[in-house]
Amino acid sequence: MNPKQGKLQIIHYRDKCIGCNACVEAAPERWAISKKDGKAILLKANEKKGIYTITTHVMEYEANLEASKNCPVHIIHLKLL
Ligand code: SF4
Repeated sequence: MNPKQGKLQIIHYRDKCIGCNACVEAAPERWAISKKDGKAILLKANEKKGIYTITTHVMEYEANLEASKNCPVHIIHLKLL
């Protein structure tokens, strides 16, 4: 596929987040740490049964792939749509 086209879906299984900050370091425009519970927030995501998802531009793929790879508990999943 042409990497400049298409959409990227990011899925965050937030329950198991340990708040290590690796996703924020890799993709600071898409991730932040909550001041309330210390876990990561997938910015602007929709929540359903504790699972957060967002569909965004594929331009975010590289940074979020790094976030996904660096997440020690493997709770950041990516899908190219
Ligand atoms: S890298 Fe994974 S465990 Fe660490 S804060 Fe981000 S989502 Fe949570």
